[in-house]
Amino acid sequence: MPLTAAASAREILTGLHDVMAKRGNAQSKLNEVVNLIAEAMKSEVCSIYLLRANELELFATHGLREEAVHVTRLKMGEGLVGSIAADGRILNLAEAASHPEFVYRPETGEERYHSFAGVPIVRRENPIGVLCVQHAEPRRYADVEIEALQTVAMVLSELIAAARLVDGSRRGNRRDSGPVRLSGLKLVKGMAKGQAVFHQPRVVVEHTIAEDTEAERERVYAAFRKMREQIDNMAREAEFGTVGEHQEILETYRMFAYDEGWSRRINEAIDSGLTAEAAVERVQQRTRARMREIDDPLLQERMHDLEDLSNRLLRIVSGRVGTAAQSGLTQDTVLIARNLGPAELLDYDRRRLKAVILEEGSLTAHVTIVARAMGVPVVGRLHEIRHSVEEGDQVLVDGDNGSVIVRPSRTLATSFDQRMALRLKQRAQFDAVRSLPAKSRDGVDVSVMVNAGLAEDASSLELTGADGIGLFRTEFQFLVSATLPGRESQQKLYRKVLDSAGDKPVIFRTLDIGGDKALPYLTGLDDEAENPSMGWRALRLSLDRSALMKAQARALIQAASGRVLRVMFPMVSEPWEYEQARKLFEEQIDWARAGGRALPSQIEYGAMLEVPSLAEMLDQLLPRVNFLSIGTNDLTQFLFAADRADPRLAERYDWLSPAILRFLKRVIDAANAADVPVRICGEMAGRPLEAMALIGLGAERFSITPAAVGPTKAMVRSLDVDAIRARMQQLLQRPPQDMRKTLTDWAKRHRVAIA
Ligand code: PEP
Ligand code: MG
Repeated sequence: MPLTAAASAREILTGLHDVMAKRGNAQSKLNEVVNLIAEAMKSEVCSIYLLRANELELFATHGLREEAVHVTRLKMGEGLVGSIAADGRILNLAEAASHPEFVYRPETGEERYHSFAGVPIVRRENPIGVLCVQHAEPRRYADVEIEALQTVAMVLSELIAAARLVDGSRRGNRRDSGPVRLSGLKLVKGMAKGQAVFHQPRVVVEHTIAEDTEAERERVYAAFRKMREQIDNMAREAEFGTVGEHQEILETYRMFAYDEGWSRRINEAIDSGLTAEAAVERVQQRTRARMREIDDPLLQERMHDLEDLSNRLLRIVSGRVGTAAQSGLTQDTVLIARNLGPAELLDYDRRRLKAVILEEGSLTAHVTIVARAMGVPVVGRLHEIRHSVEEGDQVLVDGDNGSVIVRPSRTLATSFDQRMALRLKQRAQFDAVRSLPAKSRDGVDVSVMVNAGLAEDASSLELTGADGIGLFRTEFQFLVSATLPGRESQQKLYRKVLDSAGDKPVIFRTLDIGGDKALPYLTGLDDEAENPSMGWRALRLSLDRSALMKAQARALIQAASGRVLRVMFPMVSEPWEYEQARKLFEEQIDWARAGGRALPSQIEYGAMLEVPSLAEMLDQLLPRVNFLSIGTNDLTQFLFAADRADPRLAERYDWLSPAILRFLKRVIDAANAADVPVRICGEMAGRPLEAMALIGLGAERFSITPAAVGPTKAMVRSLDVDAIRARMQQLLQRPPQDMRKTLTDWAKRHRVAIA
């Protein structure tokens, strides 16, 4: 073996350069390459495996049996070769067969060889193959030999990519365009939304073998100078006051930029015959590989800083200086990166940078500390994010819960907006009323609950001081999932919601799928239906697909064991549908009892009144329900025959129209007369003026968007219930021209807080 890594690698690289410059097909070049490496390293075997159709195929070999070429295949993670590719690690073994991952392939004839060394061949950070050598004599390889192999693997990746020998993108499993919800690590709190922007498409090193080593050295010196200048400027311009953690961070960062060891290693790589770009990359790969071996989280974090700098150097030296920060953000941005260094984050325009998603990231990483100082929410450890998102996709980031929704449906986006609005208003508005009851001036207690749909919504109970969750939209879990959630995961969610609600009641609504809430994985839903919201949806679908409903019933029953289970059915159009759904639940109770499972301490059943026909049947329905819930979103669209999703009709009919109010009064009166609690849970009730009118009609229970709890409580506390009831009575008998204006004037006159 030659004396130094540089000399050893240079010898091979010179040969490789000649091979690559020659005419001829890729296979014959690879055959030459293995011979060349075997000879230079005096090894009996040198083999190249390439990733094709997710398997590592023996592509060229010196020393193994010829008939194994294109025959021997190993899956990712299988055998020594598979584990090198899967984990991106280096193996250096004196006795290959005693390694736990070793698998024997008789066609190769490798039983004669004892020692084994292999390195991954990497392209754009993805493994595309493995280069390995074997010797008959059992020995460990010297560091210089391993380094030479790594250098050669790097050059090979260029040859392999140019010849298109491996499958192109490994992103085949990514998105199919539906919404995707991912859970990561909460790094910096806050909520934000925007378009996905990739921090930087990685610089792909195109040329690895240098023509003129001195010229490459000059290029890298110049790049170092420029990078150091940039870091110095950044440290000077950092706007975070004068003292504090972030300043120390930039200092550490500067220390790395001036680190002599780092520049020396890059120089050595250039000595071995690499171009400046390849040398920077080579050292980066080496450091990465070493860090993988070290199990020290602190060191790993410092490694991110070094990666940040290394990327910066690579961009400068290759002339591809632009990150997304330099190209200028044009819109609200959710920045996506494998990792970011603090300096890279500081490069961004803070007015447009709304959130950051990291594939890696940790609580104590510098970038997290800096982001916190900047007030930018960060979610980390989303390893699959780059496979789930395309540049430009809409992304919702919830740093409070560590979750991210990519390409949200309208329903999800609306719910997110509502939670975001809640966050914005919460401090100012809710602090004042949170702990105060929603009791009117004349002593009437109004129950104010919240609508929710995801586990994280349960936190709004605490934030708002609401009385419970009056509508838990169970279909949200289905909407954010790529596949049908099983009973287990439903149960887990319901239990979590009940746990976080504590003593406060939660009303679960069974699945309301269909309409504008289509599920890609559920067949039979007709997206093309002319009137999907009047189609096969909600309870209609659940009763027809009873297996789905059974699973949900069982999940709810088990989640609520020992507690009160409150459940309601959406879109009940005729009482028999309610009866059938209830029967299905009761049968599941029998099932749970027969199986010796713990049961809920009590079950309350309710129906949602959203379809006008049900109002005609209340005398039949009310004796059978524990409560009634009026969904004004659907109800009003059906009353007016006006699609709730059509923007052209959005403002055409008023929630305060006498038709709606008279209709609601009938229902509320009937429920009150039957002593059945009735709750209003559509968006209407979340507006203080409308809520005031509803109280005037006799309603005393609401379930509303969390952001509206504060304003609603404030309204109730300033209201005289008797007075508004008397007034509404008159107004419904002789409706004014403009009900909204009349009620607004009344509220102002009576100092009711409706703002
Ligand atoms: C409603 O229709 O008013 C309701 C609360 O249900 P959703 O908005 O989920 O259809
Ligand atoms: Mg509805």
